Amino acid sequence: MLKIENLHVRVAGKDILKGLSLEVQPGQVHAIMGPNGAGKSTLGNVIAGREGYEVVTGSVTFEGRDLLALEPEERAASGVFLAFQYPVEIPGVNNTYFLRTAVNAQRKARGESELDSMQFLKKVREKLAVLHLKDDLLQRAVNEGFSGGEKKRNEIFQLALLEPKLAILDETDSGLDIDALKNVAEGVNALRSPDRAFLVVTHYQRLLDYITPDVVHVLADGRIVETGGPELALQLEAHGYAWVKDRVAPGH
Ligand code: ADP
Ligand code: MG
Ligand code: MG
Repeated sequence: MLKIENLHVRVAGKDILKGLSLEVQPGQVHAIMGPNGAGKSTLGNVIAGREGYEVVTGSVTFEGRDLLALEPEERAASGVFLAFQYPVEIPGVNNTYFLRTAVNAQRKARGESELDSMQFLKKVREKLAVLHLKDDLLQRAVNEGFSGGEKKRNEIFQLALLEPKLAILDETDSGLDIDALKNVAEGVNALRSPDRAFLVVTHYQRLLDYITPDVVHVLADGRIVETGGPELALQLEAHGYAWVKDRVAPGH
């Protein structure tokens, strides 16, 4: 589904990703772990096509297409979703309106008919049921005054509505208490399916107590330095990142 080869990315004139390679199959959940500043968010942002990331060399292929040649909206329309580490607040914009606009923009880009409010409401109810959520966030302004847990819940809901093939969650666990963390994990687990893959970016192991990844990667100094199964996350929890930092080429 996703194939990244020898990716080098520069941000503000600085080399951040330095030869990153990664392959994700449909249905898999990959965890990307690593120390702060390793380039985890850069990886998510460059896949989603955010501005300010200069691809120096390397390739990103999504379902056989050159993802880097596509505009961010085209990437989203082709099924790539990125949940930001810090969701934006949009005061004065109704959340339901916002979500419907996002869904319809994607449908339009795919050449599908837009959903009217009744059709959208039906979809909303269906997704609320899948995620076992109440509708209490829907009539508020987008993320305005939302707690950390509510923002993340809203993002998982947005993910459910957009039905991406590849969902990238960037530190969706940061700043969450244990109940909110479990809610996010339950949402992700409910949305796992044979044709949907997840890239779960996390600094801490604890989210992976609730979302069992198929593959765990350690990203350090702009490269994948270690790949393993769920046990790798536990080793990191026990030994910290100093253990992998030692494996990065000396002199860095
Ligand atoms: P992580 O998510 O693993 O903590 P990031 O991808 O956010 O790491 O950042 C990797 C490195 O890139 C850091 O050293 C960070 O300071 C730098 N960086 C990221 N974005 C920018 C930017 N817009 N301008 C300058 N440096 C940046
Ligand atoms: Mg960080
Ligand atoms: Mg980050």
